[in-house]
Amino acid sequence: LNTKKMSSTYTSNLRIEKAATSKLKDVNFENIAFGKTFTDHMFMCDFVNGEWQQPQIMPYQPMTMQPSARVFHYGQAVFEGMKAYKDDDGKVFLFRPEENFKRINKSSARLAMPEFPKDYFFEGLTTLLNLDKDWIKPGVGNSLYIRPFAIAIDPAIAAAPGESYRFMIICAPAKAYYKGTVKVLIAEQFSRSANGGVGYAKAAGNYAAQFYPTNLAQQKGYQQVIWTDADTHTFLEEAGTMNVFFRINDTLITAPTSDRILDGVTRKSLIQLAEDNNIKCEVRPIKVNEIVEASKNGSLKEIFGAGTAAVISPIEGFEYQDTYYELPEIGAHSYSSMLKERMLNIQHNLAEDKHHWRYE
Ligand code: PMP
Repeated sequence: LNTKKMSSTYTSNLRIEKAATSKLKDVNFENIAFGKTFTDHMFMCDFVNGEWQQPQIMPYQPMTMQPSARVFHYGQAVFEGMKAYKDDDGKVFLFRPEENFKRINKSSARLAMPEFPKDYFFEGLTTLLNLDKDWIKPGVGNSLYIRPFAIAIDPAIAAAPGESYRFMIICAPAKAYYKGTVKVLIAEQFSRSANGGVGYAKAAGNYAAQFYPTNLAQQKGYQQVIWTDADTHTFLEEAGTMNVFFRINDTLITAPTSDRILDGVTRKSLIQLAEDNNIKCEVRPIKVNEIVEASKNGSLKEIFGAGTAAVISPIEGFEYQDTYYELPEIGAHSYSSMLKERMLNIQHNLAEDKHHWRYE
């Protein structure tokens, strides 16, 4: 599928069917469960006969598919997660959306799916956000979670790449809420990804495969698993569905991206923000033993997950080889709270955006 060549020849002809009424008045924004309420419209574009067809925006609704659709059998599916924010003047911003666009096409390529044209993506996304902008509440802590995804829809259960695909975008209002403390279990048996595998892609199956080991960790009283390398389980890689940072003394450390690690937008932004704030950040492999030793000698100050959903999720302790290691309480002086505040201020148009990360 030579979609790269084709994408440059597309001209926009987005078709819009507006919802007759809005569901907005029925939504209680004070008490909204994440990912269960969706806005009035959705974006959809099918790939048939080697070409992306006319993109459409329509009322959010169920859709029919053949039971034989390949996505159900072989998990040929990729997705993205991004957010829109509104400032007090009612302006709506995305955060580094190019990165998500590039990443979904990288994921698609790995899953043998056609890449989506950039103009379709940005026109579809911005038109959708304009239609549903009343669903975005201003203020830090409020956002609209955006879920682009692509699936194989052709009715054929041969285990081979499909010929028909559907690219969609749906949106869900989100509110930051206090999740309680996060304790993590360091994986000694299970793996999230392997060399040569799909860990760097946002492939749907990566997430399904995490549920079982995460359930086991939860039964032991841990909210998340810190994934280690599949070969030796001695290198720290990601925390749940987040990248992970460790602070030893005054230095931050995070693993380099690889076949096995997702190239997170939050991760790369935090590395830059650390540099901007004269915090040393090392990108290098990090061994479990290094943080165990650092915890024992008191030099391990912080561990936090980094991702679009929570920006930063501080971790209060970890279990490894049946021993629990608790992190010290450093509260307001933590890098995690400082960096989180800086990120949120940039995202919500409350601070200077010197790297041009906001997209209005
Ligand atoms: N790792 C994994 C496995 C993820 O699913 C995510 C969420 N997309 C991240 C890291 C964080 O990436 P981002 O900062 O781009 O949300």
